Amino acid sequence: MARRKYVVGNWKMNGVSAALADAQAIFAGAEARPAVDVALCPPFTLVGAMVAAAPAGAAVGGQDCHSAASGAFTGSVAAAMLADIGARVVIVGHSERRDGFGESDADVRAKAEAGLGAGLSVILCVGEPRDVRESGGAIDHVLAQVAGSVPDDFDPHRLAIAYEPIWAIGTGLVPTVADVAAMHGAIRGALAARFGDAAADMRILYGGSVNGENAAELLGTDDVDGALVGGASLTAAKFLPIVEAAAAL
Ligand code: PEP
Repeated sequence: MARRKYVVGNWKMNGVSAALADAQAIFAGAEARPAVDVALCPPFTLVGAMVAAAPAGAAVGGQDCHSAASGAFTGSVAAAMLADIGARVVIVGHSERRDGFGESDADVRAKAEAGLGAGLSVILCVGEPRDVRESGGAIDHVLAQVAGSVPDDFDPHRLAIAYEPIWAIGTGLVPTVADVAAMHGAIRGALAARFGDAAADMRILYGGSVNGENAAELLGTDDVDGALVGGASLTAAKFLPIVEAAAAL
């Protein structure tokens, strides 16, 4: 069966209660495009309120979780706590966590396992820094991240990989379509080598400066099953054209 397109908004550390109106507008627009799966990942403080404000069944998620179920981890949130307030999704391994908080592949894998164990769908991010892209090592770098951070055993429909070149996040820069196709093909190949037929059910999203203008081309690229969107996910006016581009494919 063809993989459904998946468009996910990562609000990062943006938004207070007033922003719930934007989420409602986004989910209302998404309901009109039922062929596309849409999720929004607001700051933790808004997850519960967004679940309550969104239509029943809308996918709201966290941007991170701890790998442990509970304990002395001040400031952290367990995957089961996200699930408890109605989240259905969690992002793990975003480069802003890998780089800013020193998360290793092993940490990301443990978080992915925690998310899956709590019944959440996981979006697991990988991506290379600019110097690695420029030196020609991007594919090796990303495949090493995939090998180190994707768990061994999971429902392939519940784990998506997000390829996010770090140098493309929030910069307005995007790789060429050929480079995106090569990377997504390499990730699919690595997943197939490890998981066999199940790899065909796993979605691979592209992230990094996706917007309403470039979405159709990026989403139409081979092995690109959706988008992880930062800046352009904060308002319906910017996000829904991306959902629309996915729906048109
Ligand atoms: C992101 O942070 O996951 C991201 C892709 O951000 P942006 O769309 O703003 O580049």
